[in-house]
Amino acid sequence: MTTAPAGATIDAAGLRQRVADVVAAHDPATTDPAELLAARFDAGLAWVHFPEGEGGLGAPRALQSVVDAEFERLGATPAGREKLIIGLGMAAPTILAFGTPEQRRRYLKPLYVGEEVWCQLFSEPGAGSDLAALGTRAVRDGEEWVVDGQKVWTSLAHRARWAILVTRTDPDVPKHQGMTYFICDMRAPGVEVRPLRQLTGEAEFNEVYLTDVRIPDSQRLGAVGEGWRVAQTTLMNERVSIGGTAEPREGGLIGIAAGIWRSRPEARTPGLHDALMRLWVEAEAARLTKERLRQQLAIGQPGPEGSAAKLAFARLNQEIAGLEVELLGAEGLTYDDWTLRRPERVGMEARGAGYRYLRSRGNSIEGGTSEILRNIIAERVLGLPGDIRVDKDVAWKDLPK
Ligand SMILES: Cc1cc2nc3c(=O)[nH]c(=O)nc-3n(C[C@H](O)[C@H](O)[C@H](O)COP(=O)(O)OP(=O)(O)OC[C@H]3O[C@@H](n4cnc5c(N)ncnc54)[C@H](O)[C@@H]3O)c2cc1C
Repeated sequence: MTTAPAGATIDAAGLRQRVADVVAAHDPATTDPAELLAARFDAGLAWVHFPEGEGGLGAPRALQSVVDAEFERLGATPAGREKLIIGLGMAAPTILAFGTPEQRRRYLKPLYVGEEVWCQLFSEPGAGSDLAALGTRAVRDGEEWVVDGQKVWTSLAHRARWAILVTRTDPDVPKHQGMTYFICDMRAPGVEVRPLRQLTGEAEFNEVYLTDVRIPDSQRLGAVGEGWRVAQTTLMNERVSIGGTAEPREGGLIGIAAGIWRSRPEARTPGLHDALMRLWVEAEAARLTKERLRQQLAIGQPGPEGSAAKLAFARLNQEIAGLEVELLGAEGLTYDDWTLRRPERVGMEARGAGYRYLRSRGNSIEGGTSEILRNIIAERVLGLPGDIRVDKDVAWKDLPK
C-alpha cells in the first residue's frame, strides 16, 4: 500500500500549523538561521510543491505564498540570502525538473539552507545571447567527462561550491542539439576563477577557465545531448528570479525617487514632475503585472510572461535611476566608492544614486538582454515571424566562429 503525500490533502490552515510547529521548536530569536532553515526544509516548507523528503510536501505551488507570509509574520525569515540567488532561483528548479532522486537528495538541502553557494557557467566570450553557440567541450572518458573551455560574466563564481554548467558534447550536430548539462564542482582541479571589474567598480562576476576538469557522469543533469532543453528551464526561471520579485507599492527605486521629490522642494520642476508621475504609474503597473505573474506561477511553470516582467524591470530601473540623478543635480553626479569590492548582493537601495545609475545598466544585459526578450515576446507571445536562422540545420563545428 502506498501512502498519499501529506500535501495531497493539506490546506492553508494545515500549513500555518506546520509553520507554527517549526517556529515553536526553533525560536527565531535564539536559533541559528541555518538550523531554522534546515527544520523548515525537513518539514516540507522550503518549496511546498517539491516532493516529500526534498523540501516539499507535494502540495499545490499556490500554497507557498501562505507559508512564506506566515514565516514572515512570525519573524522567522532569515536575511542575507542574496548570495543564494542562483541556487534558489535557477539551480533548484532545474534539479527538481531534471535531477535524479540521488541528485535531489544531495544538492537541494545544502542549497536551501545556504551551506552551498551556486553559480551559473553559461555565458562564453562567443556565446551570450546566442547561448546555443557555446564551445566549452565535454568529452566522455569512462564514467567521467573531461571539460575544457572558458566562461564569462559568472556571478558569485568566487563564492560558489557548485555550478550549473552547459557544455558541447557533440560538435557534429546543429548547435541546439549536442549540448549536455552538468553540475560542476567549483573546487575540482582545473577550475580557475578570475575577477572581472564592472562599471560600478565592483566585481560581482568573474571569468572562469576550465582546463581538463573531470566531472563524474553522476553529476550530469538530464540526458546526453539534452542540455538545451535543461537550460531552457534554468533560463525561464532566471528571468522570473531577476525581474519578477514582488515589491510593495512605491517599493524599490521609484520609492527612492518619490522620497527625494517630497523632501526636496527646491529640486522640483514641471518637467521632472511629469517624468516622475509617468514613471510612478509605470512602476505601479509593473508591480501589478508582477503580482499577476506570481499568481500564474503558483499554478504552473514560468512562461514568456517572465520575459515581459524582466524587460519592464530593466527599463524602469534605468529610467528611474536616471531621473534620480537629475533630481539630485550636481550631487547626483558624485560617486561613493570605487574600491574593488566583491559584494554578495546588488545593493541598489543601500548605495547612492550614482551606483544605482551605473548598476542599472547591467539590468538590461544580465539574464538575457532586452533585445532578446523582445524577440521572445514577439515570437512566442505575439506570434510574429521569427528571426531568420541560417544556422538551423548546420553542424556546430561548421558554423563560422
Ligand atoms: C551583471 C551581470 C551578471 C551576469 N551573470 C551571469 C552569470 O552568472 N552567468 C552567466 O552565464 N552569465 C551571466 N551574465 C551574462 C549575460 O547573460 C550575457 O551578458 C547576456 O546574455 C548577453 O550576452 P553577451 O554579453 O555575449 O552579448 P551579445 O550576445 O554579444 O549581444 C550584444 C548585443 O547584441 C544584441 N543582440 C544579440 N543577438 C541579437 C538578436 N538576435 N536580435 C537582436 N539583438 C541581438 C544584444 O541584445 C546586445 O545588445 C551576466 C551579465 C551581467 C551584465
